[in-house]
Amino acid sequence: MSAHPRGDTLDFLKVAKDLLPAGASYDACVGCGICASGCPASGLHGMDPRRFINMAMLGMNKELSTTPWVWACTQCKRCAYLCPMGIDVSQLVGAARGAWATEDKPSGIVRSCAAQRLDESTSAMGIMSEDFVEIVEETLEEIQENQPRFADLKVPIDKKGAKFVINQNSREPAVEPEEMAPLWKILDYVGADWTYSSKGWAAENFCMFTGDLDAWKEMVETRVDAINALECETWINTECGHSFFTLWQGIEKFGLEANFEAESLVTYYAQWIREGRLPVNSDWNTNNLKFTVQDPCQLVRKSIGDKAADDLRFVVKTLVGEENFIDMQPCRSANYCCGGGGGFLQAGMSKERRAYGKRKFDQIIATEADYVLTPCHNCHSQIDDVGEYFGGAYTVTHLWTLICLSLGILGPDERKYLGPDLADINLPDEE
Ligand code: SF4
Ligand code: SF4
Repeated sequence: MSAHPRGDTLDFLKVAKDLLPAGASYDACVGCGICASGCPASGLHGMDPRRFINMAMLGMNKELSTTPWVWACTQCKRCAYLCPMGIDVSQLVGAARGAWATEDKPSGIVRSCAAQRLDESTSAMGIMSEDFVEIVEETLEEIQENQPRFADLKVPIDKKGAKFVINQNSREPAVEPEEMAPLWKILDYVGADWTYSSKGWAAENFCMFTGDLDAWKEMVETRVDAINALECETWINTECGHSFFTLWQGIEKFGLEANFEAESLVTYYAQWIREGRLPVNSDWNTNNLKFTVQDPCQLVRKSIGDKAADDLRFVVKTLVGEENFIDMQPCRSANYCCGGGGGFLQAGMSKERRAYGKRKFDQIIATEADYVLTPCHNCHSQIDDVGEYFGGAYTVTHLWTLICLSLGILGPDERKYLGPDLADINLPDEE
């Protein structure tokens, strides 16, 4: 990545003023440094959020448009959450990203966005709609043949009028299709009336991270049109953070007409457990393995707020036993971003990304947890990577894995993200 964007194309002072919340003033920035001290990107490339704001106020447009720091800020909004003035650096960073020439942006993010624009599937891994349908059908056939309990399992695609339409991160159909099975089994268990859409099914949006608003809008429009056409009541975002934020925020930002509600799968996990439809418990955790959970910034702080954090904890504590759950500090809406967001994982800046993630690693190690549960795929990859890099002994797992484990329906091929301590626990009966 070179650092020669069009530095003179953006007037940061004007952008900053346009982005201020009502009643706020940059002049009133008290210089408290809360934003900088709580930002894991502080110090990378000699920048921090307070400095970024000061430079905007001083009209240092060229410097702000050329610092690679804009690709190290994950746009997690922790600074905005804590700032007494409500100043949101992430929006300035988004504008700065957009000012970079495409050829100078991190190629991994640009490539992922370009792949999404290839086909109505909107997959960052370039999976076309017909390939997605084929992979789902093949994976389903294998489950039906090999797991007697699920011989009649259904995975509807493009079922008009279903109550729920659900998306899927491309990583599963692309490289680990067996990881779709736990989600399908949970939906079957609760008797959900659901469907995938063959169009706009992919649960990622790297176009948002490029700072290219037209590309972000295009992604959201494709998805909204597909969901509207299916006439489903509720769009449920899978265990992923940014694909939730990008859709609801995109609908608002671009004034799109969405004839459906947007909800998170975590919310429904909690609801189905409360209703007794998902009768999970911690009986399987006989060794009292300890668990912590990562609050995805895009889902908690940036979207639903502490209600999502409450639901997440309710689900996890029910699953692992209250006494086996240890929260990171800080957590919930004040949680630190892990460093996997904002396209950082795709940006090719491993050194900076791991330096950013060290704060998360230290938080996890302080809990002494054996497992980290991450609803979000980017968090999952990043926390796994920094664990390996800095020498952590924890294992990173999805919620759906533990839910199916607890229900005794987690197949032998669906245990990739469990450590050896859980590899053989609660295997389904052979019939
Ligand atoms: S959005 Fe997050 S990474 Fe970016 S400046 Fe704010 S706290 Fe730091
Ligand atoms: S937290 Fe807000 S008021 Fe404090 S230094 Fe940062 S921008 Fe200024």
